[in-house]
Amino acid sequence: MKLIGKLLINGEIEALTGLAIGGSKSDVSIGGIDNNVIKTAGGVPFIPGSSLKGKFRSLLERKKGKEIVCNCGEKNCEICVIFGKGMKNRKNDKEEKSESGPTRLYVRDAYLTEATKNMMENKEGIFSNLELTYTEIKWENTIDRVQSKAEHPRQQERVPAGSKFEFNMVYNLLKKDDVAMFKHVIEAMNLLEDDYLGGNGSRGYGRVKFDKLEIVCRTVADYEAGTPGQTIYTGTLPDLKIDPLIDEILSLVREEAV
Ligand SMILES: [Zn+2]
Repeated sequence: MKLIGKLLINGEIEALTGLAIGGSKSDVSIGGIDNNVIKTAGGVPFIPGSSLKGKFRSLLERKKGKEIVCNCGEKNCEICVIFGKGMKNRKNDKEEKSESGPTRLYVRDAYLTEATKNMMENKEGIFSNLELTYTEIKWENTIDRVQSKAEHPRQQERVPAGSKFEFNMVYNLLKKDDVAMFKHVIEAMNLLEDDYLGGNGSRGYGRVKFDKLEIVCRTVADYEAGTPGQTIYTGTLPDLKIDPLIDEILSLVREEAV
């Protein structure tokens, strides 16, 4: 199995509602705020690539009726090929691993766009009322299910609606079949738009939208020649028609994928 090309997927993720990613219980009580948002060393919120990738995977698995974490280990499981083996089956199957090859999809950490960051730092427009530099504080009542009465309200930190993040993924094409499997990646993005990212989804948190998508197909020949590859799509997610796109990728990697 050798590389025949890569698909570079770039764009923006916009938070349509407040986003609470990374809230681990151990972070509770930093400044009295529950479930702190995950941030870079510089204190700026971001969306970890692993969170996005894990969400994509679980949405596809749920759709296919698989376990929450797909550990099926089936040789031709397309989810395992794209996302890598689940933790449970990672050991004792080096042979199978080499058979399906390395994980096809890399999802990079998504950082706030400069425009969003600047607006927040200057408290401009929709970000004029932020309680903290890059986040808002929302009060939530949690219900004690045993006593069925409202507990003390808690403060929840969120990245506010309207925040935009830069989004980058790489999809590796190692054999011809990988081209058709790319439809699952687009499908996962569509599923995510009708789901949520991060915590408190049942309270309406974490609705996101992909925007300004750009997909570039860079073949092995492009890498050898140092050329940037072919832009095969620019636009929104709803406008993306997957079948013609797959055909175009197939024609671009025709030489390599024999
Ligand atoms: Zn699987």
